[in-house]
Amino acid sequence: MTDTHFPKDLATASHFVDGRYVEDTDGAPIKVIYPATGETIATVHEATPAIVEAAIASAARAQADWAALDGTARGRVLRRAAEIIFARNRELSILETYDTGKPLQETLVADATSGAEALEYFGGLAADVTGEAMRFGGDWAYTIRRPLGVCAGIGAWNYPTQIACWKAAPALATGNAMVFKPSETTPLCALKVAEILIEAGAPPGLFNVIQGRGAVGAALTEDPRIAKVSLTGSVPTGRKVYASAAAQMKHVTMELGGKSPFLVFADADLDDAVSGAINANFYSSGQVCSNGTRVFVHGDVHDAFVARLKARTETAVIGDPMDEATHFGPMTTQAQLDIVERHLATARDEGATVVTGGERLERPGFEAGYWITPAILTGVTDEMTVAREEVFGPVLSVLRFEEEAEVVARANATEFGLSAGVFTRDLSRAHRVAAQLEAGTIWINQYNLTPLGMPFGGSKQSGIGRENARLAMDHFTETQTVYVGMGPVEAAF
Ligand code: NDP
Repeated sequence: MTDTHFPKDLATASHFVDGRYVEDTDGAPIKVIYPATGETIATVHEATPAIVEAAIASAARAQADWAALDGTARGRVLRRAAEIIFARNRELSILETYDTGKPLQETLVADATSGAEALEYFGGLAADVTGEAMRFGGDWAYTIRRPLGVCAGIGAWNYPTQIACWKAAPALATGNAMVFKPSETTPLCALKVAEILIEAGAPPGLFNVIQGRGAVGAALTEDPRIAKVSLTGSVPTGRKVYASAAAQMKHVTMELGGKSPFLVFADADLDDAVSGAINANFYSSGQVCSNGTRVFVHGDVHDAFVARLKARTETAVIGDPMDEATHFGPMTTQAQLDIVERHLATARDEGATVVTGGERLERPGFEAGYWITPAILTGVTDEMTVAREEVFGPVLSVLRFEEEAEVVARANATEFGLSAGVFTRDLSRAHRVAAQLEAGTIWINQYNLTPLGMPFGGSKQSGIGRENARLAMDHFTETQTVYVGMGPVEAAF
């Protein structure tokens, strides 16, 4: 293992461990590709066992002293890190765009800023990790929220900075340390979070970032020094990670995939519903876990909705992600592009109609990128593959419905339960339907907004536990109860 200085370009060192960038070229190389052009922009190396060991050991060293600090002091470090991220937002957003291909117009407002907001929010709450006191006659008991220890964070590739911060902020605020493994596809941004936390005053080792594929994630979940695993990823990976954590009775948070319903009733404000459907399907080129990809539209407004949706979608500015006028970028990987194209072909075979999009983009300079235009399918039925499986791409399926009870039943007829949307002007219907939908997060007349003060997470196969809000602090602590005897001790003999 050798130390390297971090050059101010994209060729970062691979890992950030014990307060500094480290490299170990014995690890298998992982190419970092700019999805817009297909060019290799950096190479990192998979963590070797020595790197994994160094990361866990230094996190364990840092954690005890960090947990012993006053919560206000912990919070101050997180809030300082938030300020640094806000100040460096443009630079970090450009890096996020290189890592993911998402347009700068999005990354400037939704990625580093969302990460900073998490550090700010949990930094504010760090002084408020409290227990309860209870009386039992003359005796009493009190509870203490204790940190879990060293936690592992494992991230997906669609929101690399946000995911790193959404996991780190509540973990560190409550006195834990974290070893974070980004997706092998987007390894660059989490390193910056680690660098910034050190600049903000975090002790070395408190937040380490190591690179690698699934095997490195598995090495973390299997290590007995890891007390909790927080994963953002697909349902199949979630099952493996959950099973691995269960072997040692570890705590878990699982933020997994979805196939969320988006309900448009006949009385909905159609322009708002169209805007919501665009946000729910085409933001980040559709690579958003909570997307409302099954768009159920009442028969009375179906044709009008589809016409407006098609017209609006065709105005999307698709192209150079670094141009701030661009709305829509490439898929993040060739593999994901292949999945989207396969789903579109299957949907056509099964009888759906592509009313717009689903085409490769031929633009000078971007020929080798992973481009596909936003696609709207009509005539989709519940049985079709595209209505049952997560696509994780810009494919919006329109399904027709007639009755409220019918659409609620169809919306719930899925193994997933991440999110749902309801567009209606009828207040009673909005809440009645929301109460029946089997989903962790439901938006009424809005979609995909996730302010930090609001819990976010899935039910059914979409996950367990919640991120954000005060609730996330519970998922990074456990309750210790202390019983206090105030009188004589009675015994049978
Ligand atoms: P994956 O499930 O493929 O991977 C998620 C992470 O787990 C990656 O870092 C991956 O490493 C790692 N990993 C893979 N196998 C193992 C293992 N056996 N043990 C430990 N870690 C492992 O997801 P994607 O990266 O493809 O992300 C897309 C998925 O994430 C979609 O299903 C999406 O819905 C979901 N998602 C959920 C969100 C939520 O909050 N609910 C938010 C964003 C995405 P590597 O990639 O390097 O192989």
